[in-house]
Amino acid sequence: MKKKVVILGAGITGLVSAYYLSEDYDVVVIEKGKSVGGSAAGFKYKDFIMDYGPHKIYSELPGIMDEIEKVVELNKIKKKNSIYLEGNYFEFPLKIQQIMKKMPSKAFKAGWDMFAKSISKKPDDSYENYLINRFGKTMYNLSFRDYAEKVWGSNPKELDKELAKRRVAITGMLDLIKGILFKDTKNISADYFYYPPKGIKQLIDNIVDKIKKNGGRILTNENISEIKIENNMVKDIKIKNGIIKMDYMISTIPLDEFVKYINADEEVLDAASKLRYQKLNILYFILNKPRAMEDSWRFYPEKKLIFQRVSEMKSFSQDVGPEDKTVLMVETIKDVNKELVKKIIEQLEEVGLIKENEIEEYFLKSYDKSYPVYTKGFKEHLSKILEYIEKYENFYSTGRPGLFNYNNMDQCWDMAMKTAEHIKEDKSREDWQETKTYFDKYRIVD
Ligand SMILES: Cc1cc2nc3c(=O)[nH]c(=O)nc-3n(C[C@H](O)[C@H](O)[C@H](O)COP(=O)(O)OP(=O)(O)OC[C@H]3O[C@@H](n4cnc5c(N)ncnc54)[C@H](O)[C@@H]3O)c2cc1C
Repeated sequence: MKKKVVILGAGITGLVSAYYLSEDYDVVVIEKGKSVGGSAAGFKYKDFIMDYGPHKIYSELPGIMDEIEKVVELNKIKKKNSIYLEGNYFEFPLKIQQIMKKMPSKAFKAGWDMFAKSISKKPDDSYENYLINRFGKTMYNLSFRDYAEKVWGSNPKELDKELAKRRVAITGMLDLIKGILFKDTKNISADYFYYPPKGIKQLIDNIVDKIKKNGGRILTNENISEIKIENNMVKDIKIKNGIIKMDYMISTIPLDEFVKYINADEEVLDAASKLRYQKLNILYFILNKPRAMEDSWRFYPEKKLIFQRVSEMKSFSQDVGPEDKTVLMVETIKDVNKELVKKIIEQLEEVGLIKENEIEEYFLKSYDKSYPVYTKGFKEHLSKILEYIEKYENFYSTGRPGLFNYNNMDQCWDMAMKTAEHIKEDKSREDWQETKTYFDKYRIVD
């Protein structure tokens, strides 16, 4: 008889783990949502296929693109993004020569900062100081400071420098200058990305088909009431329809939820409650014109604008909607009501994206735990939780919420593949600690 693996969460990490294990193991995936895919899910609406926020595919991890291409056909797409600052659009990542041309006084100040920076350097003790030390105050204020508040809902002084290390691929002004002189932007941003013709949903649907073909089961709309531990082993899980015993458990769900199911000690529950996540609201505007912009997405870091990013599904694939219409995805962390939508529409007009009479309809989708927020001190809370749950010898917490790892889909794929390998090859707990140290080194290339 095959050994049983229970996987919590049907996001990309849970599903890909199930895909790699389902040939040799009896796999059950338990998902609380009505559908699968987690933050990489897609959905159909009328004649459109949409992502929950744009999901490009790109990887520098060895072998991962080949693995993804075994599951889904991918189109290679030339990347074109921009950033809106002081009434102008600039290519993104920002290039110094564009600032010199359109905002000469800012370029002068940025240059002065470089000199001042060499005289006084702040301790590298926060997101803010880490970035000021590398870009100077002018560049920091221009493109990073307000954006942090708009995406993570936090004062950048209170954010951990780890967030800057993971999210800002470019390491400083020298990279920007190298980009100008030698056209060397490979550390800053990739020139292209990949995308399935029928949206990210096509990738998720294909993974699900493969799991089912291998006999794996995916239970959606489930409710976990308890997870039982005996002698440092996860024994069984109680869900709506009964109890499932298992040989191994993989958890990809948020740690604050997992520790409640195992009735963890008070101090662990307390540490888990201090890990913060940011909710994201996405407004989908269906427009009665074939295209709205040339870019795949545009960043809006300025505080006065309600939204932080706008993207257009049609620039990912022409096959995700009818020829004569398009859809814009507008991201904000503000609570959305009719009044706010009115203001957003005015601001979308102001930044030159739409005219009000082009809007056919709009609707809202929200995702509660979109972004792990790395507030100062998060590593201490995280270590306390992981130390506690990693005593269980047949248990692996992995993926973005499972390790509170601010990662991308390709990294989730890598994590899922490596977690499955640990089970298949019966690797030691010491090996798992090493693998986790490797997961902590992921950096996102935009
Ligand atoms: C707006 C946005 C844009 C992004 N863009 C990109 C991009 O362009 N490219 C890219 O590569 N990555 C992108 N990412 C990151 C990518 O979406 C994530 O890295 C990835 O989807 C995380 O997958 P996961 O399976 O680890 O976690 P999740 O997707 O969060 O999956 C966890 C699953 O667990 C389920 N769950 C939660 N609690 C419970 C419970 N108690 N019981 C059972 N199930 C539970 C959830 O419903 C969910 O399905 C983006 C993320 C966001 C939010």
